[in-house]
Amino acid sequence: MKTQPAFVPWITAWSGEEGPYIAPYLIEGMPLITQRSQPGKGDPLWKRKNLARSRLAALEMICGVCGQPTGLDRWQFHMGHWIGGNYSFAEAPVHEACALKALKLCPVLKTRAELPSRVPADMVFDAKLALGTPAEVKAKFGLERSGLVTDAPFVCGAVVTLPAAEVRRLCSQPRIKLDRP
Ligand SMILES: [Zn+2]
Repeated sequence: MKTQPAFVPWITAWSGEEGPYIAPYLIEGMPLITQRSQPGKGDPLWKRKNLARSRLAALEMICGVCGQPTGLDRWQFHMGHWIGGNYSFAEAPVHEACALKALKLCPVLKTRAELPSRVPADMVFDAKLALGTPAEVKAKFGLERSGLVTDAPFVCGAVVTLPAAEVRRLCSQPRIKLDRP
């Protein structure tokens, strides 16, 4: 009998989830790479995020661990990249309790030195659709251009981009308090 792991983050992909595939419609004039959201189907793919849930999390500030809106209890891991003076990341925000849970259980996060900071209530995360060229989509997802597709780039996910001053402000906020043994 298969035993289910006790805890799987909401954003984690499952092996039984259909996709990725090209959605049969355009989003802002571009083809969308997506995946069905069927958490619990198959086995958790710990190193992968479900494309639909991760896009939704970034756009709507949903906690990547529990799947509920973060509201004012919003914390952010620092796992992005500097691109042209701006900091871009695709990590979902998390609740404080959820961040602590993830830091305790996730082998990747456990070893990370940088703890998440609290997002100030007035800080606006402007999440934008992340685009990929047809060649990148082919390489990453194995998906070919379909009849639907124009020359437009593909929508692959969503990213938040912060200017340097806002990143400094975010980094100066309280960090998660972790009682490491
Ligand atoms: Zn949560």
